[in-house]
Amino acid sequence: MTGIVVASANGRIGIETAVDVLRAGDSALDAVIAGTRLVEANPEDHTVGYSGLPNLLGEVELDASVMEGRGLRAGSVGALKGYQDAVDLARTVMDELPHVLIAGEGAARLAHETGLHPRDLLTPEAETIWRERLGTDHDTQDASSRYLSRLREIVRATASDADLASSGEPPHGTVNFLARDRAGDIAAAVSTSGWAWKYPGRMGDSPVIGAGNYADNRWGAAACTGRGEMAQRCCTAHSVVTFMRFGLSLEDALRMAMTDLAHLDDPYASEMNIVALDKDGVPGAASTARGKTYVVMSEDMSAPEERTRTIVPVEGAS
Ligand code: ASP
Repeated sequence: MTGIVVASANGRIGIETAVDVLRAGDSALDAVIAGTRLVEANPEDHTVGYSGLPNLLGEVELDASVMEGRGLRAGSVGALKGYQDAVDLARTVMDELPHVLIAGEGAARLAHETGLHPRDLLTPEAETIWRERLGTDHDTQDASSRYLSRLREIVRATASDADLASSGEPPHGTVNFLARDRAGDIAAAVSTSGWAWKYPGRMGDSPVIGAGNYADNRWGAAACTGRGEMAQRCCTAHSVVTFMRFGLSLEDALRMAMTDLAHLDDPYASEMNIVALDKDGVPGAASTARGKTYVVMSEDMSAPEERTRTIVPVEGAS
């Protein structure tokens, strides 16, 4: 059986390493973590790990999760501050604790106990983007009303302006990695710094198993990028896997999960993207927006292939 890895487009930097892990005969879980780690360390990606865009207070808070399709083991961390290796910490939660999700101070405490290296995650460049887009002085005292109206403007502008959305500086983003190894085991990893200017402590879909990440060897795997609150309310990643369980093709499962989003009452509705892998290792991806891509590489390919996602327009979430 040939191993395969599928990732969101910003996973390009890590996908060859992930495939090399499979080529070495290691597990899908090792592969998705190896790929994700490189994105977390990439200073040019302001949506994941080091140099991620910060929350309302200017603090970078990371969310990440891992899931294994064999036995549905899972671990995740949310609102992690001061450590870059969120995906490794998610694995530690899965492997070492009788829990699934650890957040905030507890996550930082676990990172310290585990021996991860603390790091100031806010780069000057990310701080500049954060200040400029917020468009106000950094006064957080009367934050909520001004913040909410400004955030809505930013979300709307990004959602309706394809150039801004793909400008390389979107106010949000996430990396998704899914893999199937030679043994037929499937795994998923997701990591993000979440929405810039998010309310402190806000966690998106990425650390919520079933919302932003799901893997089940029997049916396949899925992971999301985009407005996390939508995936949380629709259990989007789990839905895709469940629809495949009920006999839908991967493409139809993606479409149905996207269609569910249309029923949300959400004034902040924005883009949603899903990558998926069926149980046989066939990849696919969908987006509510035009021009979105993802990357695929199997063990027998010499380089990753960037493919266009199926567009599933969802009113209010383009
Ligand atoms: N899903 C991420 C979140 O809501 C952001 C993104 O992928 O754009 O935190």
